[in-house]
Order: sequence, then structure tokens, then C-alpha cells
Amino acid sequence: MKQMTKGKCFIISGPSGVGKSTVLHALMEKRKHVYFSVSATTRDPRPGEADGVHYHFLDVDTFRQWIANDEFLEYAEFVGNFYGTPRRFVDEAMERGEDVILDIEVQGAIQVTSKRPDAVRIFIAPPSWAELERRLTDRGTDSPDKIQKRLLRAKVEFQTAHTYDYFVINNTVEEAVEELNAIMTAEHCKPKERMEILSGK
Ligand code: 5GP
Repeated sequence: MKQMTKGKCFIISGPSGVGKSTVLHALMEKRKHVYFSVSATTRDPRPGEADGVHYHFLDVDTFRQWIANDEFLEYAEFVGNFYGTPRRFVDEAMERGEDVILDIEVQGAIQVTSKRPDAVRIFIAPPSWAELERRLTDRGTDSPDKIQKRLLRAKVEFQTAHTYDYFVINNTVEEAVEELNAIMTAEHCKPKERMEILSGK
């Protein structure tokens, strides 16, 4: 059945370690017609991460080549590595009428917003800084120095949270998923979109 909605772009930002991947994974199980954008990065894969599934893992030269070829919708440097959103898959998914989810940090969010002002921006925050530090430490993938860098970066990112359209606190995965799901549904109930669908545009 053809869906009653047009594809929208949802930007999800929030501190590293807040649990975005877990929440977004659970959300994808719940919603149909959603495409999760797989980013490119120059950081090393974590245990269990697969190339092309969690990220496209590139070396720096290849990443620079993708920049030169204008392959990215946006890209940014984050704690010593590059991250970028390949443009083509995003465009293709939206043309299919799917919602696109971009899990990107705040500099990338600013770039996407300037190119696609109708993108919906959602900030995901931890219940407390102590809890964020605990989650980063428990993940066991970063050195103490990298954890401190990620925490510092998290506090800087937090200062921009008021510029987002929505603010979700990841207290439990279930609650965060429920709120994200509700936001996405509400965004599809805006008169402009509904009226365009009814008038066959
Ligand atoms: P991690 O190394 O923990 O997977 O990701 C670090 C940060 O990079 C997270 O805040 C994540 O949202 C962000 N990130 C992941 N992919 C992209 C991307 O394609 N572009 C940008 N700008 N940030 C990204």
C-alpha cells in the first residue's frame, strides 16, 4: 500500500554515548518507511560494527576524495575523526517517500538545516552528566582521555540544544523511542503536508 506521507528528514543529535544508536535501532523496528542514513567515518570500527552497516569506514584519503567529489550532504570533524552523510542515499530514500534519519553531531546538523530548512531537528540528552560518563565508560571502547574529550564535547553540544525543534531525554530506551515515534507522527500531521496529499500534489 502506498503510504499517506511524504519523506521527511529528521536530524538526531546528542552527546556521544547518550544511546542514540540503541534508541534509533529500536525506533526502526517500530516505524515503517524509515531509512537510517549510514554515515562515512575515518574512525576505527568498534567491536561488532560492520562496514556498510554501522558506518562506511574510510581512510582519510578516501574521505577527502569523497569531499572533493561532492559526495557529502554534510561532514564534520569530531574528536579527531571525520564523519559525513553520503548525499545520494538520502536523496534516493526521500524520493521513495521514506523518512530519513540522520544521526549527526551539531556542526553537521547546522549544515543540513541550511540546505534543507524543513528538516526536523531532535536533540537527545542523557538524564544526567554522571549517567553519560557511566555509559561512555561502560561502553569500554574509548580510552579515559577520549572519554573526557567526548564529555567535554557533549557539554559544548548541549549549549546548542535550545536551537533544536524537540528535546528528548533518554532515561529509558522505551520512553525515548515512544517520544521519537510521537514526534515523527506529529510532524506528518502538519496541515501543509496533509493538504498537499489531499490535493494530489
Ligand atoms: P561515534 O564515534 O560515537 O559513532 O559518533 C560520534 C559522533 O559523530 C556522534 O555524535 C554522531 O552523532 C556523530 N556522527 C555520526 N555520523 C555522522 C555524520 O555523518 N555526520 C556528522 N556531522 N556527525 C556524525
